[in-house]
Amino acid sequence: MSLSNTADTAIVGAGIVGVACALHLQRMGQRVTLIDREWLGHCPRLTDSLPILGRCPLHKNVFFAYGHQHIGLTAGPKSGRLIAQLVSGSRTDVDLTAHGADRFA
Ligand SMILES: Cc1cc2nc3c(=O)[nH]c(=O)nc-3n(C[C@H](O)[C@H](O)[C@H](O)COP(=O)(O)OP(=O)(O)OC[C@H]3O[C@@H](n4cnc5c(N)ncnc54)[C@H](O)[C@@H]3O)c2cc1C
Repeated sequence: MSLSNTADTAIVGAGIVGVACALHLQRMGQRVTLIDREWLGHCPRLTDSLPILGRCPLHKNVFFAYGHQHIGLTAGPKSGRLIAQLVSGSRTDVDLTAHGADRFA
């Protein structure tokens, strides 16, 4: 059985951001699959210190949420909610333009 038969959304990474996003999507009525492989590494940080939050510029059904450096436990639940809003096509609570992946292009 393919993933598309069992889930509306697949989330790769069951850290605090992924779990928060899954929780919000489930509350919105979506079927969610969380995929995680055991990984541990440095806290990723972008050069402007803002996490990437938003739609992939190349694939409209792919969304990014990473780069929370050392504030992810605080900001992660909010980021998860914002990505859930994007995935579901809802209006986001805040403008995410400054967080776009294309800002470094
Ligand atoms: C020592 C320490 C102290 C900290 N203290 C604080 C604090 O006081 N306050 C605060 O706000 N933040 C703190 N942080 C930062 C916070 O822990 C991180 O910002 C936050 O956990 C990041 O969450 P995340 O969901 O983005 O990523 P992660 O927690 O890294 O989750 C990513 C998940 O993706 C999985 N994964 C990765 N690659 C793949 C793959 N290819 N396929 C499938 N799964 C994959 C991993 O297994 C992991 O479970 C601290 C961090 C450290 C290390």
